[in-house]
Amino acid sequence: MKFAVTSKGDSKSDNLVQLLKQYLLDFEMEYEEEEPDIVISVGGDGTLLYAFHRYSSRLDKTAFVGVHTGHLGFYADWTPDEIEKLVIAIAKTPYSVVEYPLLEVTVQYQDEEKETRYLALNESTVKSIDGTFVMDVEIRGEHFERFRGDGLCVSTPSGSTAYNKALGGALLHPSIKAIQLAEMASINNRVFRTVGSPLIIPEHHTCVLRPVNEPDFRISIDHLTLLHKKVKSIHYRVAEEKIRFARYRSFPFWKRVHDSFISE
Ligand code: NAP
Ligand code: MN
Repeated sequence: MKFAVTSKGDSKSDNLVQLLKQYLLDFEMEYEEEEPDIVISVGGDGTLLYAFHRYSSRLDKTAFVGVHTGHLGFYADWTPDEIEKLVIAIAKTPYSVVEYPLLEVTVQYQDEEKETRYLALNESTVKSIDGTFVMDVEIRGEHFERFRGDGLCVSTPSGSTAYNKALGGALLHPSIKAIQLAEMASINNRVFRTVGSPLIIPEHHTCVLRPVNEPDFRISIDHLTLLHKKVKSIHYRVAEEKIRFARYRSFPFWKRVHDSFISE
């Protein structure tokens, strides 16, 4: 089996990566950075986001595992002192795989030739560059609302514990194939009206955002934010692709939620 390891880049993570690499080579696994079967990310959830984007072109052939060198993560749920156990599990056991849904984001521009497509593991946010953000929100082909405020956030189930949670969104179990649309500080008065609640949108329903006036936006895909000019529309839906995690032990989502947000 071929493996790759990614590090957060701090000395604790780098040292752990060296150790992991040596252990796995001792078990006669092959180090292969370009086309690994398994990717071990060492650091935090942010490190796994980077690893996901690094290997997003071969998701069907890659399984991810996350080790945390700081606090417990949602993707990075193995501790440094479980390393030996993890290495033996990786080298010896045929692992089972858990798949989590991803978010597909397609941006279309006034120039019809151009179109960009992204996959997000956590979420995509849209904000204006300056001034109030105004968007027409369309769900499943029907106009839903004209949103005015700071921006909008569309998250995956596993991303629901990240930015989405700070916006008052619900935590969604990753077995639910859906995306969640959450508001950022909507303007609500007698003139302007938005639904005010986060919406959970099922598979096969597309949510489209259409600029009302200003067509330039800052669009984030997980940790990456880019400036997009002359945007015609942004399309969100549950992606066909999924992320695959190698599963060696049970650590249920609700327990991760409890241990991360309530107490360990
Ligand atoms: P970061 O600034 O280090 O991330 C912010 C925090 O979010 C970190 O504690 C990170 O954990 C955690 N996180 C990432 N994915 C998570 C998940 N699925 N569930 C729960 N917590 C999660 O930047 P980053 O590490 O590159 O992560 C990018 C993410 O930051 C974005 O995708 C967005 O979700 C989040 N973010 C949150 C806010 C907010 O809550 N107001 C604002 C901007 C961005 P680690 O320390 O383990 O990396
Ligand atoms: Mn981080």
